[in-house]
Amino acid sequence: MAVARKPRYVDVTNPSLSVECPHCGLLTARFIDHCRNCGYKLWPSSVMAAAAFKVWRDADPSRAMASRFDLEVPVEPLDATIDYAARAHELGIHLFPNSNYPFIICVGALFLALAAIPFSNIARLVLAVIGGLIFLYGVVGWVLVEDVRMFPVDNPQSHGEVHH
Ligand SMILES: [Zn+2]
Repeated sequence: MAVARKPRYVDVTNPSLSVECPHCGLLTARFIDHCRNCGYKLWPSSVMAAAAFKVWRDADPSRAMASRFDLEVPVEPLDATIDYAARAHELGIHLFPNSNYPFIICVGALFLALAAIPFSNIARLVLAVIGGLIFLYGVVGWVLVEDVRMFPVDNPQSHGEVHH
């Protein structure tokens, strides 16, 4: 007798979770007993609406995540992970490599900035040398070492002179 208790007037082939209210014509949830806009009674009872929703939902596995309070079936979450490095290489865009060297460059810049403060000349010279060395180390490491490793030059002919 279970079959007879199912609300047979549910069109399970219709994938829509929303319906146009026959009274006000606005879109409303299909399995809520009252229209959300005008309160028109779409189902004889809330229990019957819920039962109809269950029949509709179980008719298709893709409706498992649907809620009868929604107007649309939720879309499967897309895997939006993007390999930006590979994408940039594809498009010929130069990305700087992920690196800790920018921090070193900043430390160098800090010492260089301290050297600009009018201390005694010896102190300023020492600070400028320390800052300059750290700064250069950071720039060389970042631009000349890591960057070249990540983006090797494709044509070796552009390197150096061609000997005849
Ligand atoms: Zn309505």
